[in-house]
Amino acid sequence: MSAVEATELPHFPLYIDGQQVEAASGGTFLTQDPYTGKPWATVADAQPEDVDRAVRAANAAFHGAWGQMPSAERGRLMNRLADIVEREIDLISDIEVSDNGKLRRDAESQIRLLPVWLRYFAGLADKVYGQTIPDAHPDYFVYTLREPLGVVGAILPWNAPLILGMYKFAPALAAGCTIVAKPSRFTSASLIAFARLFEEAGFPPGVFNVVASAQRATGNALVSHPGIARIAFTGSTETGISIAQAAAENVTQVSLELGGKSAQVVFADSDVDAVVNGITAGVFAAAGQMCHAGARVYVERPLYAEVVDRLSKRANDIRLGNPKDDATDVGPISTQAQFDKVLELLTVARDQGAVFECGGGRDAGLDGNFIRPTVLTGVTSEMDILREEVFGPVVIVLPFDTEEEAVRLANDSEYGLASGLWTNDVRRVHRVAAALEAGVVWVNTYRVSAPGVPFGGTKRSGVGRENGTDAIIEYTEAKSVWIETSGINRDPFRMG
Ligand code: NAD
Repeated sequence: MSAVEATELPHFPLYIDGQQVEAASGGTFLTQDPYTGKPWATVADAQPEDVDRAVRAANAAFHGAWGQMPSAERGRLMNRLADIVEREIDLISDIEVSDNGKLRRDAESQIRLLPVWLRYFAGLADKVYGQTIPDAHPDYFVYTLREPLGVVGAILPWNAPLILGMYKFAPALAAGCTIVAKPSRFTSASLIAFARLFEEAGFPPGVFNVVASAQRATGNALVSHPGIARIAFTGSTETGISIAQAAAENVTQVSLELGGKSAQVVFADSDVDAVVNGITAGVFAAAGQMCHAGARVYVERPLYAEVVDRLSKRANDIRLGNPKDDATDVGPISTQAQFDKVLELLTVARDQGAVFECGGGRDAGLDGNFIRPTVLTGVTSEMDILREEVFGPVVIVLPFDTEEEAVRLANDSEYGLASGLWTNDVRRVHRVAAALEAGVVWVNTYRVSAPGVPFGGTKRSGVGRENGTDAIIEYTEAKSVWIETSGINRDPFRMG
């Protein structure tokens, strides 16, 4: 694309200190529409110096207008922002589809959740209290203050940038923190469009900043900036580990929402229609580009053949195509690298002897990066496809004979993000839900979310939980205040 053609595309500048600004270097990068395969917008390309500018602005807001604002007033501004976001749902959803290739109705369902999250945490803003500790010591009155951490560096993936960002933004803002957000280079535009709304809502400048960039150095600069109190990261396990290592240099707090290879366990008493629907929601929706994709399905043997058969038929019926079309179920894979990775993993699975019940590669009838929903059987524990996160529309279905075996197989993964449990036996529900090693257990459903429910992974799927009332506490720190009440001068050489 020529420089002249690029200037005709919509442009998304950075958002720093309450203003839309260009990168100090003047650099920009192109962002592609995964459906057309063509650039659709240009984005300002932040460098480390822009990160520094954003962190300084966020620190000034934290120590200034935002930090001094009563918590109820913070909540009021968040509610006002929620109203404005609600007005802009169509615009932001359209941008998310152009950036990500996400199905329009799926994108809209996620953008509709943004005001829900803002209002939930706005209501908590003035309900963060310290404690009094009555029996701490006979000569002291002791209490704690719950103080906001400071500036949060939010680092986001490309698969659902805004809602996964909101998992961080809403509790952090309610707690009194300020934010510098770095979107993925593939999906920066919707976050910038969202950021522009803060000014209209009346937020002080510097509370929310966005540093989009195509440079690895920019993310590194955010993670290692001494002005950052906490990095809230969502992305791959590999990147999460390197971010945690870099953050350790400044003893910066880190929360990590990472990858997964989530299991679903289907008992023979399940409703098969619901099972097929739930597996479809859990691994074929969004072309499988979901951290919590229920990609390993273990089915009790009496139901196994029927589930494989009906799921394969359902997979074959899935309509791939233009994500903006109402008739489409699944859009393209969002990035070329991800498309290549899914094809590579399928090739290895074929070479290692997996059985392809349906799908297995790119859609023969469509141009572009479309992968047919794929059902695999005959997968053994030595095969890479059983262990590696595909992040594509690929599900493995395997049989089991006993509850104990099902739990063992489901837990046999280095990941532990989500899980699905299908049964109508209420006793079994409680036994197996307790035994599954995952941060989430969906029973007779899959892929539902709400601001009041904790979300996050065990094992290599992450550190910490987002959402739920405790999420706001994550963005605060306790300060203990000891007040001497006896008036007696104690022996200074003994510990009190
Ligand atoms: P990624 O790890 O490649 O990138 C995530 C973000 O980190 C991007 O913004 C990227 O620019 C940034 N980044 C990369 N290297 C960095 C560095 N050294 N310093 C600072 N920032 C850096 O992940 P992705 O490909 O964007 O997303 C897909 C992955 O995210 C999958 O593994 C998926 O499972 C995971 N994910 C997890 C959740 C969850 O909640 N657990 C949700 C969605 C996606």
